[in-house]
Amino acid sequence: MTKPFYITTPIFYVNAEPHIGHTYTSVITDTIARYHRLAGEDTFYLTGTDEHGDKISQAAEAKGQSTQAFADHIAGIFRSTWDELDFSYDRFIRTTEPAHIETVQHILQKVYDAGDIELREYSGQYCVGCERFLTDRDLDEEGRCKDHEKPPEERKETNYFFLMSRYTDWLAEHIEKNPGFIRPAGYAKEVLSMLRSDNGLEDLCISRPKERLQWGIPLPFDTDYVCYVWFDALINYLTGINYPDDPQFEERWSNVEHIIGKDILKPHGVFWPTILKAAGLPIYQHLNVHGFWNVDNRKVSKSLGNMISPLVMRERYGFECFRYFLLREMSFGRDASFSEEALVTRVNADLSKNLGNLESRCIKMLGRFREGIVPEPGAATELEKDLEALVKRIPITVDEQMRNMEPHRALASVFELVDATNKYIDQRAPWKLAKETDNAESMELLDKTLYSVCEMLRVISLLLAPFLPETASRILERLGLAGALEKAVLPQDAQAWGGLPVGNPTQTGDPLFPRLEMPAAEDAN
Ligand SMILES: [Zn+2]
Repeated sequence: MTKPFYITTPIFYVNAEPHIGHTYTSVITDTIARYHRLAGEDTFYLTGTDEHGDKISQAAEAKGQSTQAFADHIAGIFRSTWDELDFSYDRFIRTTEPAHIETVQHILQKVYDAGDIELREYSGQYCVGCERFLTDRDLDEEGRCKDHEKPPEERKETNYFFLMSRYTDWLAEHIEKNPGFIRPAGYAKEVLSMLRSDNGLEDLCISRPKERLQWGIPLPFDTDYVCYVWFDALINYLTGINYPDDPQFEERWSNVEHIIGKDILKPHGVFWPTILKAAGLPIYQHLNVHGFWNVDNRKVSKSLGNMISPLVMRERYGFECFRYFLLREMSFGRDASFSEEALVTRVNADLSKNLGNLESRCIKMLGRFREGIVPEPGAATELEKDLEALVKRIPITVDEQMRNMEPHRALASVFELVDATNKYIDQRAPWKLAKETDNAESMELLDKTLYSVCEMLRVISLLLAPFLPETASRILERLGLAGALEKAVLPQDAQAWGGLPVGNPTQTGDPLFPRLEMPAAEDAN
């Protein structure tokens, strides 16, 4: 049996259409999933939509639609967008699915039976946008919700509470004993400070009275209430791999990687592990947290209209260019800035000039000097030995970086190979060697050079495949290696120098990355 690997995006809340933030999360998840598939692991990638809660029922009402119709519509947009962008998810889950409702009720009953859920009267400051009662920390100086800049409503309610505070010390200890459990490390620190704050961890309200909210999953032990959205939403990660019935559940679950944005650190870093613990389930392996995209130096928001549609970016620049920019520009965990100018600059430098030129030079020279047939390389000299050494080392580095959730660094490592190959070509100057047709030594050296650059392209393509799947396939096809990705195993096949068969027919093609034009300056308004 191959090793199972399980990776998740958060389920996206259906109150907005897909924007740069959702797209980044999905691009990272897709890239990591593709890497693990190429590493021969039995990979399962889960994504989907979160569809319960008052915000959704209010948004549906405002549009004059039934809540279900509204949720169906937005969930459909997410799904079709991800399909258009060719994200390789294995399951698209919706929290309104019967299977999910059953799982949530199962977990609720387990936690209730364990004595970790209690009915209490509560009075407090409720923010409709946040869908929860706020604490003082959530309010600004004017007493408004910090996130929504609106004053909360005073509400009194009898509700069910999950006794999360019981798990404060256990969770803090787990985080301290397991570096990398939440990564990068700054976010583990942030969760620890939530746990260690003066008030400590509060208990979590997990219900809404049905008289106020119909749109939710009924509590199995009190059908006058529906489940609070986070408790419901987080459990999707269990439903996604058919908890508890699937015989593979345990093994998959023990290898889970959650990918989230930092705005949902608390639910994933605090609520989720304590819910799992209370339900008697092992907690997740890693929580991987990425930063925010600022667009044109401002936070992405609906009201600013700077959400950046992935389909518009695909139309304008090609999706792999946008995908490359997202992967390369953001250091995983930190914030980054997006602008179309920055995208054009980076794509032109890295993809058009660097990678694209390399591919076109290699295959054109092979066409011109050797009729497109991969020649016999002969014995390696120092220069080829240097390339071979690099090819031994870099795939291992990439493997480590991908497993440490540092895709931006892994991508930079792949480009070390691109740079080394460009440098090698300049050192060898095959166009000069090609003129010395009556010098046998020059001809041998030319063959060696042409073989080596094409072999480097093969290695680069294999390693690039998780990041830029379409580009990698195109390069491999031109090298006469169509279908190579289906058989390849990383990192070893990238490390094995000489994988390109002598005598392989290659073919030239259109430029992989035509130079992008700078976007026209928009009218000042
Ligand atoms: Zn709020």
